[in-house]
Formats: sequence, C-alpha cells, structure tokens
Amino acid sequence: MLTLKTPISKLVGVGPKTLMRVEKLGIEKVSDLIYYFPRAWADFSLIQPIISLRAGEVATIKAKILQIKNHRSPRKRMFITKAILEDDSGEIKAIFFNQFFLPKVLYPGTTWIFNGKVDYSFSEKEKVLESPQYEKEAIILPIYPETEGLTSKFLRKLTRPLLKLLDKIPEFLPREIIESENLISHQSAVKQIHFPDTTKKLEKAKERLAFEELFLISLRMLLLKKELQTESAPKINIDEKLLKKFVKTLPYKLTNAQRKSAWQIIKDINRKVPMNRLLEGDVGSGKTVVAAMAALSVIENGYQVVWLAPTEVLANQHYKNIKNLLHFQGVRVGLLTSGNKKADLEKDDLIIGTHAVIQKDVKFANLGLVIIDEQHRFGVKQRAYLRKPNPIYEVGANRLNGSLIPHFLSLTATPIPRTLALSLYGDLDLSIIDEMPKERKRVETRIISPHGRPSAYEFIRKQIKLGRQAFVICPLIESAVSHKMKAISLFDQDRKSVKAEYEKLSTQVFPDLKIGLLHGKMRPKEKEKVMRDFAKNKINILVSTAVVEVGIDIPNATVMMIEGAERFGLASLHQFRGRVGRSKYQSFCFLFTESWSENTRKRLGAMKNCYNGFELAEKDLQIRGPGELVGVRQSGIPDLKMASLSDIIMIKRARVQAEKIVNAGIENYPQLAKKLAEFEETHHLE
Ligand code: ADP
Ligand code: MG
Repeated sequence: MLTLKTPISKLVGVGPKTLMRVEKLGIEKVSDLIYYFPRAWADFSLIQPIISLRAGEVATIKAKILQIKNHRSPRKRMFITKAILEDDSGEIKAIFFNQFFLPKVLYPGTTWIFNGKVDYSFSEKEKVLESPQYEKEAIILPIYPETEGLTSKFLRKLTRPLLKLLDKIPEFLPREIIESENLISHQSAVKQIHFPDTTKKLEKAKERLAFEELFLISLRMLLLKKELQTESAPKINIDEKLLKKFVKTLPYKLTNAQRKSAWQIIKDINRKVPMNRLLEGDVGSGKTVVAAMAALSVIENGYQVVWLAPTEVLANQHYKNIKNLLHFQGVRVGLLTSGNKKADLEKDDLIIGTHAVIQKDVKFANLGLVIIDEQHRFGVKQRAYLRKPNPIYEVGANRLNGSLIPHFLSLTATPIPRTLALSLYGDLDLSIIDEMPKERKRVETRIISPHGRPSAYEFIRKQIKLGRQAFVICPLIESAVSHKMKAISLFDQDRKSVKAEYEKLSTQVFPDLKIGLLHGKMRPKEKEKVMRDFAKNKINILVSTAVVEVGIDIPNATVMMIEGAERFGLASLHQFRGRVGRSKYQSFCFLFTESWSENTRKRLGAMKNCYNGFELAEKDLQIRGPGELVGVRQSGIPDLKMASLSDIIMIKRARVQAEKIVNAGIENYPQLAKKLAEFEETHHLE
C-alpha cells in the first residue's frame, strides 16, 4: 500500500536512473516528493480560440483530437507525430518530435489543453502548434526546480497521484488561527501549490505555507524562551564603582550605544532568570569591551566566565587582548583550544577557548556566564548545540549547586534587522550597538579591474614603506551546492588558490618583502606563529583565506585587498573591510574582480558607497534575494521554502499567533506539537 513513507523506488515509472536523479534532489520517500514544491507556475488558464492564434506567439488552447498519426521523418532520423486539433472556432495541426507513444495517449476524441509555440510550417504550408505541452485538467502547471534529466512534466506525473495521501495528514494549525488569519487548510495548500485551480487559490496556498513556516519557527523560539525562564541563574550584583574604574582604564571613551548595551546586559544578569541575549553590532563597533564588562561583573561575584571564539586564531587574540583588558583587577585568564591548554578550570576566572575543546566533558567549578563571540561564525552543528536552552550547562556538573545554570550572551556582527531578529531569534533578548567609535576613519574602497593590478601593488608597496601592513584575501571557491560539498574538498580548492597567490607574491611581485600565509588547514601552532609575526609587523603582507574575516584585530594593517571579490557576499566583504581602518591611519580596501556583470557591478558598487553593515545587508537582500543573503544564511536561519524573510508583516502575524499558543500551553495542541517536532528535525533549527 502506498503511504507517505513509501520509498520512491517503489513508485511506478521510477527506474534506477530516475531514482538516482530524484535522490540528487534529496527526495527519498513519497512525502519528500509531496513537499518538493514548484519554483514557478505556467499559467495555462488563458485559453484562446484556435482561430485567433498567430504565428510566433505562445498560446494555450483547449481542443479535441480529431486525428493523430506517427510518421518517420524523410531522413528516417526521427519520429514525427502529427495531430489535428479542433475547438469551436477552428482547427490547427500540432507537430511533435520523437514521441512515438503519443497516439496512445492523445487518441482521437479526447480533449486536452495544449500550450506551445505557434509557428508557420513550410512543409505543412500553414500554422502549426509545435511540440506543445498537453495536460488534461490543470490549467496552471507547476514548474519544478530543474535537474538534469528530470523534467517538470515527469515530476508532475509522479507527484499528482500522490497528493491524495495528503488526506491522511491531519491539520495541525488550531482552528482559531486558521479562522482569524483566514488561511486555507494545509492539505489544500499543498495540493494547490502543485496544481492550482486558479491563480487566486495559488496565492492562498503560498500564503498558508509561508505562514506555517514562520509560525513554526516563532513557536519554537518562544517555547525555548519559556523553558529557559523556568531555570535559575546566579544573581550578579552590580558594582558600579568597579565598572567605572574599569572604564577609566580604557584608552578611549565608550560610545553611547556601548554604554546602553552594557547597562542592558548588567541589569539582565542582576536577575535570577538566566539571561539569553544577543549583542548585535557592526564590525569594529566595540562589542568586546561591552562583553568584558559583563564578564568582570560576574567574576567579581565569584563565578567563572567562559568566552568562546569560533577559531583558534581568534581565541588566541582574545586571550591576549582580554587578559590585558581585565588584568588590572587581577582576573585570572586561561586559554583552552585544541592547540593550547593553558587553562585551570578550577582556578581560572575567565576561560577563553574554542568550542571544540569546551564541549568535551569539560567541567567548570563555578560557571556563571557563557559568552559566544562571533556566534554566526560557528558551524551549523556547533550552533545547534550552543543554542540549546543550556548547552554547556546541560552537563550536570556545570550546574551550580546542582541547580543554577549560567547566563548566556551571544555576540554577532550579522546585521539582522530588529524585527527579523526578534522573530527568528525570538527566544533571545536583543541589544544593538548602532554607533561606531567617533574617531574611526572611513576605509576608502576601490574596485580594481585587471589592468589596475600593477598600480594597486605599487600602492601596497608604498604603504609598507610607510611601515603599514596589508591583507590579501583569496576566495573560497564556492559552487551553488557548496553547502552539500564535503568541507575537505572546499578547503583543498581554497588552499590551492591561496597558496598560488602566496607563491606569486613572494617570488614575483614582492620578492623583497616578507609575505605570510594563513589558511584553515594549517596546524594551530603554525597559525598562531603567523598571527604573532603579523601582529609584531614581522610579516608585511598576509595572504589568507576567509579565516581572517573573523574578528582579527591588527591596527597597523591599512590595506585589505580581496581577490575575486564578486564571489563573496556583501556581509563577508564588509567583514573583511572591517579588518582595516582600526587605527588613526587612513585605510584602503581594494576589491579585485574580473567579472563585470550587472550583479557584480551593483554589489561591489554598494561596497564603495555604503559603510553600514545593516544597509549592506538590505542591499544584498534587494540584489540577490533573501535566499542569498549571506550574512543571514550564515547566521543559521533555516532555508525557507515559501516564506520570505523580507515579509515583515507575515513574520509579525506568525509571531503574534505563536505567542497565543505558548500562553495557552502547547500541550493543548497535540497535532501542533507533533508537527513542531517533525519540523525541527527537517529544518535543523538552531
Ligand atoms: P567588534 O565589535 O568587531 O568585536 P572590537 O570589540 O574588536 O570590535 O573593537 C574594535 C576596536 O575598537 C578595538 O581595537 C577596540 O579597542 C576599539 N574600540 C572599542 N570601543 C571603542 C571606543 N568607544 N572608541 C574607540 N575605540 C574603541
Ligand atoms: Mg569581535
């Protein structure tokens, strides 16, 4: 018997070849096929009378087959099928190539809807319909994302008979939501998304499916939040004197936005409810010092703090910087990465590390706060782990006195607009640093085409003569399916290009200068040495992969040169650019590109004119669409099938309804709870 779980291989018409192709799409069982949605629809609903057809146009007719016959073409290379079609207004011939089975399908007397190009045929000496598509009922046809060897027509045929199984899927949205949001049922939405009766019904189907996606995401987040609120964390007393003393040790004045965010955080950890907060701020906006103030408070209250960085390089850098920041108070700082284990979990107040080490049964004596730096830079799996209600604190040993859990602070430079962040990270409270330190100079940004390369190199040489340093970034070669590719092969390609560039620069272009190489596959000790040498200005130019994107702070570097700039998302480019312009010296960002497509021009142009991460994200959204919004994708918001992240109104609607359910208690909605569990499995929410 056919069920939702029936493997595709059991379906009629699916041979080994087809199976392979279908599996490439990630489709394994019947339900996968049912939820493989079209990307577009061909409107067959505008039926014209045959008499009105003109050569050269694409037309849709509804006609009866009068006659149909196969012929061999004069040169016997192919089958030609000729049919005569008729409606009330007249007749027209249709010609098909190499579809000798057609007379068995389109037999005389049956009526079909044909859609195809009308052309004048010299051999027939009249207008004909050329290789039209034909359908029995549907007037709007789905067009599925294309894959080699799998036509939409085939997928339609495969999917259509399966849709009756939808009747077995219960409605999971509560009646009251369906009514107040004026939605159609899940079943009919899925049916209509594949085979819409009318364009109006198609729109309703899209609306329903988009709503349910956003609703489920919101619901998940709100439930997490509720769960966390049943836990307790240590109440951190605020020592204003100490904080003032700390701020006085800084070589600069805090911005208002920094002060405000710090205050929100300090007040938050002053409660017994665990803090779960996201601190969002553009690259270089000074998140570190804000988080350090929270850390200091927690440490003064006698608890430990863990500060996680996404990479070894960054962990090392933080270790140095934060140790410096906090040392005045005699804070003991430890480092814990796979390459470096200078930490004493019993005695250290602050442990800086990478996630890889922390998750291995590391037991803290007295954990009070967890800080996740550059949260968007952790891998999907790591983030999934970190975003559990209590990741590190889930380990029983890390519960203080067996019951308290630590506060939680995430830092991110991903510019997600507030509404979006609230809905998609709905379980988090949000602080935003929306102001840059005043004396910061703008990084002058230039787009460099191939012929500008020599003078750009000359420019770099001059900067180095002045004592400054430069970064050269080589792209990660990404294809459309990169996220499915093995990380290893990505790194290999990546390494090759960065190595080649390193060779070229150190032997041909700047043989007299000291060039360094940095990429993700190097051993931690090697990386550390390179970064140390670069920080000490023993290396003039650092050739690197995207690993430097993450928070590296080398104030003396003034040139950021990016190869294949068009391959990076605006969010990444903005991050790279943020690596320079961190001192009183004027800095420069060179975007090298050999592509001159409309898209590249627009995007790189945006980099030239815009220095605000939020605005750039907005532009990326406009130019490339939400699916491509790199920063957002990196931040782990799941790929949405129907919903659009730019649909703020829909996001709000979903959020409001999700709140109602959480207040009423999800246990009163068993179907919904079941659906949510499935959704979590398929959507890999954080
Ligand atoms: P990010 O938000 O990207 O993590 P950092 O915290 O690394 O930024 O800060 C970037 C640089 O700006 C650091 O060198 C830091 O010392 C400096 N900085 C932070 N706050 C200020 C401020 N209010 N005024 C001037 N410089 C600041
Ligand atoms: Mg940072």
